[in-house]
Amino acid sequence: MAALNVSGLRKRYGDNEVVAGLSFAVEPGTCFGLLGPNGAGKTTTLRLCLGLTAPDGGTITLAGRPIPAEAQQARAKVGVVPQFDNLDPDFTCAENLRVFGRYFGLKDAEVRARIPTLLDFASLANKADAKIATLSGGMKRRLTLARALVADPDIVFLDEPTTGLDPQARHLIWERLKQLKSAGKTLILTTHFMDEAERLCDRLIVIDHGRKIAEGSPRELIATHIEPQVIEVFDEAAGKLPAFVDAHRQHAERVEASGETAFFYCRDAQPLLAALATADGLRYLHRAANLEDVFIKLTGRELRD
Ligand code: ADP
Repeated sequence: MAALNVSGLRKRYGDNEVVAGLSFAVEPGTCFGLLGPNGAGKTTTLRLCLGLTAPDGGTITLAGRPIPAEAQQARAKVGVVPQFDNLDPDFTCAENLRVFGRYFGLKDAEVRARIPTLLDFASLANKADAKIATLSGGMKRRLTLARALVADPDIVFLDEPTTGLDPQARHLIWERLKQLKSAGKTLILTTHFMDEAERLCDRLIVIDHGRKIAEGSPRELIATHIEPQVIEVFDEAAGKLPAFVDAHRQHAERVEASGETAFFYCRDAQPLLAALATADGLRYLHRAANLEDVFIKLTGRELRD
């Protein structure tokens, strides 16, 4: 049985159909990604799945329970890491965990017994008595993650878990999420970072305007939607890029210009690399196609504010 099953989900705010017939299933013990540009409907979808917002149509089953009818029972099996940390600033790390355990109806002794393990998991073993205000952004995120685990959930929802963190802090969160997956937890994740999705997600969907526009493993999506090799060519202020693009666009399946950079998407990169070897005033980067290329191809390069 799927940990989460969503079928024909719809939600409208006024004239705006924010979720427009979304279906997907999340297998237990996997990490499932929900990707899409700003305003695509990711947060609304998470809120619908948790029973925090009522759908206009469709069905949701979470942890074997129909949502929203049995959301309360389902949420006993679910931990949530919200987009913005909402730890209680007046309490210490340990107190935040205790208070949250109480919300879940856990006995105080039970939570107290779990706190050292949770703080250890968050690499905050020496911060039990530290006030929230004294923690770095990375520490707060890890405490929020530990807090989501207070009732030992089977399923953890994570809304942009590493936004705003420095590289070291992100890597530590990734390690912890991999540990949770190894322990058999199901992770449901939204993120704007394609490297994060590529690293963590077993499967993902890309949504835009409330509709699913692609689904698969990161590897499948890259193989299906995009040419395997990318050469990014940068103009070194000599103004030579437009002429180079015109002269060599036949060497790529697709070329996209973005400011001072041209992206050549190729099956065979050799002809273009040969041309670049003798080109003046240009720099280039030759790399394998990645999930970000897929995302940009599917959702476009225009800004979504
Ligand atoms: P994402 O998480 O992908 O950025 P959201 O689910 O937050 O997208 O929002 C999708 C759209 O729904 C946006 O256009 C947003 O303005 C709108 N929206 C979200 N919540 C509400 C609400 N409570 N009332 C009205 N519009 C909303």
